[in-house]
Parts: sequence; C-alpha cells; structure tokens
Amino acid sequence: MQSYQLFINVTKEINLKIGKLGTFIFPVGYYFYTGSAKKNIDKRIKRHLSKKKNLHWHIDYLLNNDAVNIIDIKKSEMTECSLNKKTKGTIIIDGFGSSDCNLFCKSHLKYQENLALADLTANALGVYK
Ligand SMILES: [Zn+2]
Repeated sequence: MQSYQLFINVTKEINLKIGKLGTFIFPVGYYFYTGSAKKNIDKRIKRHLSKKKNLHWHIDYLLNNDAVNIIDIKKSEMTECSLNKKTKGTIIIDGFGSSDCNLFCKSHLKYQENLALADLTANALGVYK
C-alpha cells in the first residue's frame, strides 16, 4: 500500500490557522486529503483518527477542529501524487500537505461541495484497494 485518502466533512464554515501556512476559510463541504507513509500506513491513518496529538502536519490542524470529521478512508497502490492528481476537486489552499510533493500538485487537499459527485469520481477511477 502506497498512499491513502481521507474523505473529510466540514460541517460548518470555519476560519482556521494552519500552522505556518496561514489562516484560511474552509467552506462547508467535502475535502479529500491524499497522503502516504513510508513505513506503516495503518499507523498513520490511526494517528489521523486520534484527536489527541501534537499538531505537526497541515492536516492535523484541520482535523483537530470540532466541525471536522473523517467520513471515509481509502487506500491505494498508486503513489500519493498520482492519486492526488486523479482526484477531482478545487484547490482552496496552495501548498496544503504538499511540502514533499514531487509532481507539482499545488495541494494535497481538494474540495468538493457535493459528496455524491466526489464518490462517483473516486469509484469510476478504480484506484482504491
Ligand atoms: Zn503531490
């Protein structure tokens, strides 16, 4: 397993500081965060699900908010950046989660207002395990 994707629901509009990246408005809707872990991907996913942790990655700041929930988690054999590139959605924040990016994704967090649309896209691609 190379990469994973978190399907995230933001239930109300929030204004959030994402570490050194800055402060941003997150509209209500669905977000797709693509990541990878070199060693233990399940351990990384478990960490994302935990509310008690030091805020280290950009995604930690988002997930730490009470209006934010992980609604689904998918794993893929694709590399993080290829999976991200295949994911439809709008980039709201440049540089989010893509500090180690090597395919110029601009952001590893994408936004879609409508979950049905997003799900359709994901399943049609057949990139998940
Ligand atoms: Zn990338």
